[in-house]
Amino acid sequence: MPASSAVKDLAALERQLRPQGWAVERTRNGHLRFVGPNDVVVTSSSTPSDTRSMRNLKARLKRSGATFSAPTPRRRPRRTPRVAEPEVAEALVLVPHAEPEPEAEPERTPADLSNPMVTCRAYGHAWEPTLPDEEDRAPAFGVLVLMKCLRCESLRRDLVARHSGAVRSRSYVYPEGFHLAGRHERGEFRAEWLDRFVT
Ligand SMILES: [Zn+2]
Repeated sequence: MPASSAVKDLAALERQLRPQGWAVERTRNGHLRFVGPNDVVVTSSSTPSDTRSMRNLKARLKRSGATFSAPTPRRRPRRTPRVAEPEVAEALVLVPHAEPEPEAEPERTPADLSNPMVTCRAYGHAWEPTLPDEEDRAPAFGVLVLMKCLRCESLRRDLVARHSGAVRSRSYVYPEGFHLAGRHERGEFRAEWLDRFVT
């Protein structure tokens, strides 16, 4: 399909996903990240450039909980005049079209993770606590303790009450590629780890 048609299809896709709580992001390497409610992540090439890859993308989004009212929006007759295309089309101008687009990016599986990531996802992180610089660790209530995974370099930020030691808040920053689309059981990562490290 021509590029302009792919852009229109994507705009239609975004219009259907947004009300369902999905966000669409462009990664630095030009891929699309669809982040659903519950943090489900589906990735695809920057513009699914043919009907088949668009269908494949929608199938993966559906498996992650998205619903679509029409099978392929571009087959529907245009209901609104061209001038009424909303701001979504403007946002799509940012999509880089330069590189030749292969098939939609195949879904990543545990086999695509680095060795440290497989180990952490199978058995948990190897946290090492550190204190950030003085000025960064003076929140109003408690002490900010940064935990860094010695293997995969994930970060955990704990706000700890100085006297009781209770963790008041916790957030995580994961390295790129750590998350996979869809849901995976821990056993899948253990099986992958065994494949790699146990002969
Ligand atoms: Zn880790």
